[in-house]
Amino acid sequence: MDAILLKGVRLAGGGKYDIRIEGNKIASINKYDGDKAPETQKAGSGADCRTIDCKNFYAVPGLFNMHTHSAMTLVRGVAKGERLHSWLDQIWQIESYLDDEAIYWGTKLAVLEMIKTGTTCFADMYWRIPQAMRAVDEMGLRANLSYVLLDGGDPEKARLQRKECEAMEKEARGWPSRVGFSLAIHADYTVCDENMEWAAGFAREHGLKIQAHLSETEKEMRDTIARYGFSPVAHFDKYGLINKDFIAAHGLWLSDTDIETLGSRGATVVHNINSNLMLSSGYKFKYKELRDAGATVCIGTDGTASSDNLDIRESMKTTLLLQWAWRRDPAAFPICELFKAATLNGARALGIDSGRIEEGALADIALIDVRRPAFVPDYDFLSNYVLAADSSCVDTLICDGRILMEGRKVQGEDEILDKAQENAFRLMRKAGICK
Ligand SMILES: [Zn+2]
Repeated sequence: MDAILLKGVRLAGGGKYDIRIEGNKIASINKYDGDKAPETQKAGSGADCRTIDCKNFYAVPGLFNMHTHSAMTLVRGVAKGERLHSWLDQIWQIESYLDDEAIYWGTKLAVLEMIKTGTTCFADMYWRIPQAMRAVDEMGLRANLSYVLLDGGDPEKARLQRKECEAMEKEARGWPSRVGFSLAIHADYTVCDENMEWAAGFAREHGLKIQAHLSETEKEMRDTIARYGFSPVAHFDKYGLINKDFIAAHGLWLSDTDIETLGSRGATVVHNINSNLMLSSGYKFKYKELRDAGATVCIGTDGTASSDNLDIRESMKTTLLLQWAWRRDPAAFPICELFKAATLNGARALGIDSGRIEEGALADIALIDVRRPAFVPDYDFLSNYVLAADSSCVDTLICDGRILMEGRKVQGEDEILDKAQENAFRLMRKAGICK
């Protein structure tokens, strides 16, 4: 069994350690004892053990990006300055030309960006998922890819999507364990009631998570209330969709009753602050209330058309500063809780034993290079990592026990940049956005 030894690495709680990875798990964590080989290192002799000298590194769990649309990397920078609904019209026009090749290279670009910024797992909501799956599998990241229901109220389209989703669920049973499959309801204003009801039953039957956009804008909240007489949360809840397997993106416009519903059912709410700011959707995410009600709060970027990058560490910084500002209280979102929201909470929401550096957990680890000004003085590592540094501090990324980046180099990155660029302009030319 291949093994990796992280020699003398520091952890956020203090102290230096030797962390041994065997297969895809953290096999042991021992106090660093100079260059002497620890007892556990001798065990399993005959294994190929790669030692990484970590004297300048801290080890942190890989981050979880719990809401994105990965191949949207290809529409990065398009339709700036628009609000959500007119912005969506322009994005959807380009997306109507998406094909397998574009999805494959767009997803690879997204995965490359996530690797470079310390993310080891993402929850995705996008089209043509076999191509996304191929890209994720080749690059070695962990992901949960969802089949997206979006019918615009067209009964024939709704029927076809149900069929396609059933076929995809069967195909996904053959995916590697690193890649999970889920169902997505784009939003309650883009999916007919019949398919919302069907999705609840299908997810229950097959034990699937459900991703959804929920209460993102004031308009969405008001439109649903005008149409049905109740909120988007109540609309989802009507079909039994709000439960521990429900992963809702945004949740910005929630009443006290909505928060109580999400919390009491143990649902997950993903905060995507940079996207919310860019689309002028709002910024008063009620972290404290959701946490106290029992909801799991995670962090996401949303797609790069709105966020504009996939850098969870940057999203953490914006989240923290805005929570402290609008609450006028730095205790409103303690930094250790934010870090948990970006790691362990994501793992729990997806039912994965990751998001923590402990013996027996999956080996999803980022090595942070602290030999740089942002980490001096090394008085409070988490504060420096979230607030002072930028994500180029991620030197090495290990996912599922495999090194995906070392010395900031990722295999095949030049080809990914070239092919993604080529495909993005091909789509924009087809959509008449550029010549
Ligand atoms: Zn989204």
